[in-house]
Amino acid sequence: MTSARPAKPLGATWWLWALLALNAAWCTDLFFLGGGFGTLAAPGALLTGLGRLTGLYGALGLVVQLVLIARIPWLERSLGMDRLTLWHRWSGFWVLWLLLAHVTFITLGYAGQDHSPVLGEIGTLLFDTQDVLKSAVAMVLLIVVAVTSARSARRKMRYESWHFAHLYAYLAVLLGFLHQVTVGRDFIGSPVGRVYWWGLYGTALAAVLAFRLILPVSRGLRHNLRVTSVVRESHDVVSIHVSGRQLDTLPARSGQFFLWRFLTKDQWWQAHPYSLSAMPDGRSLRITVKALGDGSAALHGIHPGTRVFAEGPYGAFTTRKRTKRGVLLIGGGVGVTPVRALLEELSAARDDVVVVYRVSDQRDAVLVDELRALARRNGARLHIVVGPSTATGRHGPIMGPAHLSAMVPRIRQRDVFLCGPPGMTAAVQRTLTQLGVPAGQCHTERFAFAA
Ligand SMILES: Cc1cc2nc3c(=O)[nH]c(=O)nc-3n(C[C@H](O)[C@H](O)[C@H](O)COP(=O)(O)OP(=O)(O)OC[C@H]3O[C@@H](n4cnc5c(N)ncnc54)[C@H](O)[C@@H]3O)c2cc1C
Repeated sequence: MTSARPAKPLGATWWLWALLALNAAWCTDLFFLGGGFGTLAAPGALLTGLGRLTGLYGALGLVVQLVLIARIPWLERSLGMDRLTLWHRWSGFWVLWLLLAHVTFITLGYAGQDHSPVLGEIGTLLFDTQDVLKSAVAMVLLIVVAVTSARSARRKMRYESWHFAHLYAYLAVLLGFLHQVTVGRDFIGSPVGRVYWWGLYGTALAAVLAFRLILPVSRGLRHNLRVTSVVRESHDVVSIHVSGRQLDTLPARSGQFFLWRFLTKDQWWQAHPYSLSAMPDGRSLRITVKALGDGSAALHGIHPGTRVFAEGPYGAFTTRKRTKRGVLLIGGGVGVTPVRALLEELSAARDDVVVVYRVSDQRDAVLVDELRALARRNGARLHIVVGPSTATGRHGPIMGPAHLSAMVPRIRQRDVFLCGPPGMTAAVQRTLTQLGVPAGQCHTERFAFAA
């Protein structure tokens, strides 16, 4: 029987903030070691100093950006890709503002020092100063990445087009670093600064290479995954079974997902995230896919024998997050996939489990027989709630506080694992707050990354 795990005293979030604070303090130190603001009375000194300082913080911010998307297994397991992507997105805009401030302050500061007009100074910096042109190209690329990442633009673009545009950010980081190497005062004048910045960028880029390229490729080669069968679950949902070599060495758990690339003529160039819909048993993996767009619909016609490349496992939506013995699993629509896998894992432990499966139409309910069998196996309660979001019943609005507490005894003493469409997830989170379930006991998986 699995016992509840005590919450860890210092989580990944704490370590990330501590590392950031230490590095920001060290950058400030480097700035003052390199002369700080110099003689403040001198023309342009304050602006130039601010330019150097914002440049150092911006460079540190770029490293943070790389770390957040490097898919470092420890961070992925602790925080989940959705949260890391959200932080990457949020901090990305701050980094851009810092770098824009760096460009503006440095230009105005140098114009003050040289007693030259701002436009003339821009020309001098761009064409007469070594490697400034490179950094200007880097800046333009970062602006393109930021503009295409704005919500309004993301909604209009295909995911793949946005992703392709986003890859230019790596080029921008490289060009920015080359600029720092040749003109940054902390590089040219300070051996300590040089070691620090090479170490910082080297570590971040090595993490990206190791965890986004080398590890997935080596796992792909070792496991040699292939589709074994495709099972129709409903009019628009199929389950795809995949098997391969040495799957018992893959550290995957119920609730996690992979980025799946099916190596067919039309599909090999795109990878989509799908959660495991069955507990990994060391011999095969299963995903259950709803046809929502081109990529997911194409998987309905995939043939057994097709080679598959799966990058992962990713995600923090696992029983590692448990703090209580009681568990409430809530799945909405195709969001039932990781819930089904979690129920299978919990069935083995025979814990106190309640499952709520929410669909707006009976036709959308999938894997129901499996859920019933698993619930029977460990005495879990299973509620299938059907109806539009506006529906009301004996206990008021469905999935409202009265309805949920009528279905789930001792709800405050449970960890809640919630996965469903964004609207439903947000509504259920509000209900859980109203019922007094502490935020630390609510664990969610979103079927969309930050946009
Ligand atoms: C962590 C996670 C787990 C998921 N698990 C499942 C599952 O078990 N079953 C299931 O049916 N669906 C799941 N999804 C949703 C699934 O990934 C999308 O429905 C699918 O990628 C849509 O692709 P498309 O080409 O069919 O549709 P499109 O019309 O091209 O895309 C629709 C939307 O899906 C998202 N999307 C598309 N491609 C990607 C991508 N490569 N990476 C991230 N987001 C993308 C974008 O927000 C896009 O706006 C999951 C999503 C995430 C983030």
